[in-house]
Amino acid sequence: MKKIAVFSIPAHGHTNPMLPVVSELVKRGNKVRFYSFNQFEAKIKASGAVFISCDEFLGQLTEKEENNLKKVSTTEMSIQDLRITVNMNAFLEKEFKEFLPDVVYTDSVCFWGKLNAMKHKVPMVVSTSTFAFNQLSSQYMKHSFAEFVDMIFGLPKVSKELKKLEPYGYKVKGVLSLVQSDNNTDSVVYATKRFQPYSEVYSEHYNFVGPSVYTNKLPEKKKERPLVYISMGTVINDRPDFYRNCIAALKDMQADVIISCGNAINTESLGDIPKNISVQPYVNQLDVLAKADVFITHCGMNSVSESLYMATPMVLYPQTGEQFAVARRASELNAGIMLKDDSADGISKAVSEILNNNKYSQGASECSEDFRKASGAIGAADFIETAPHKASSRDIIAEMNKENGKFQLIYWLVVIAIIVLFCIFITPKYSWIVGMIAGIISTPIGKIMQNKTYYRLTGKKLQ
Ligand code: UDP
Repeated sequence: MKKIAVFSIPAHGHTNPMLPVVSELVKRGNKVRFYSFNQFEAKIKASGAVFISCDEFLGQLTEKEENNLKKVSTTEMSIQDLRITVNMNAFLEKEFKEFLPDVVYTDSVCFWGKLNAMKHKVPMVVSTSTFAFNQLSSQYMKHSFAEFVDMIFGLPKVSKELKKLEPYGYKVKGVLSLVQSDNNTDSVVYATKRFQPYSEVYSEHYNFVGPSVYTNKLPEKKKERPLVYISMGTVINDRPDFYRNCIAALKDMQADVIISCGNAINTESLGDIPKNISVQPYVNQLDVLAKADVFITHCGMNSVSESLYMATPMVLYPQTGEQFAVARRASELNAGIMLKDDSADGISKAVSEILNNNKYSQGASECSEDFRKASGAIGAADFIETAPHKASSRDIIAEMNKENGKFQLIYWLVVIAIIVLFCIFITPKYSWIVGMIAGIISTPIGKIMQNKTYYRLTGKKLQ
């Protein structure tokens, strides 16, 4: 029996996959305290863990901060995460001393969980509710211009907030080190090795357990007409424009449609709802997906995993860089198509394509089979109970970085030698041109070298 402290941020997508794992840990007789927020109290208590409310540490948000969070601004989320960590410091200091946890199981972007595990030297297992992102897999993300601006201009603000942690004894190199997956941290990832991009470069500190869901229910697709399910998740779901386009696209189709639109939408704003379409604030998504033939999704990791678990092919409509990575992988596995045109016409064409071309239902079924073979919540619970783990395998990322370092050193020494020779034998006046050309071609040459090293180490090509 172990004492396990569990931490997550106030978000369904991060909390949901932890719940079946927590349930399993409790069932095995472990003492589990789940530090979370009132909106999740019922779910957490149902898992059998002791719920500890942390709402009082959330702090008062200005209107601007609230808007930034609704837009999923990485800067704002990091700032709020760091502020909550400071607000919770005294409370967690006391909790860690009283409860004396043997293991901390914490969401990967829950800074107070991770930082307190490190400060109190308690073995930690990180819960990665999306793909594990390192320098290779993060290339699957495609950030919008607004996301780039937010990240670049937000860095100084985040650094200022990070400094405020120092007096409390938290040691942090930078915010990236807090969020990026490294090869030394015990991590549970709710993806299979087949679904996770570049899974071969992750060390044995990673446990790819596949989707963590409460159900063993099998897909049941037989019915008179197809069922189309639409959801933009629980965070960025205030999209009446998109729901209106979906309604226009599907109102005359011989299909039934369920739209889960969240609580922020007034259904009257969607106009007349045709008979074949039902609009609801929240549904039991796994139950709907078991029957659905197409899922139009924002590509949150949980939604896509649940869809594939239920062998439902998707129309992929990602809204953030991270969701784009999930969408790209699903599309590579032929389990869905990207929605490039979100007009009524574009949506109608994409849904018809999924319904009429069985390569997508085939792709989704293959993923479903793979997901159902994974160890799931039981595998995650085994891993948490036996933490900390040792890794004996080679660290491919470290080897790649070492090779790259060597290549960069040699490359720039050669460039300097050429510039010197150019100055001596031709003219110093235009030596800057040599430097400029060397700078421009260094990126593609570096990529070629990286590809070669990766192939040598893994026998696979970079995507
Ligand atoms: N969800 C649900 N019913 C709904 C809408 C969403 O049960 O009507 C659940 C869904 O099953 C998933 C989670 O909410 O587990 C959404 O997580 P995801 O990572 O897909 O997206 P996010 O909400 O974090 O953007």
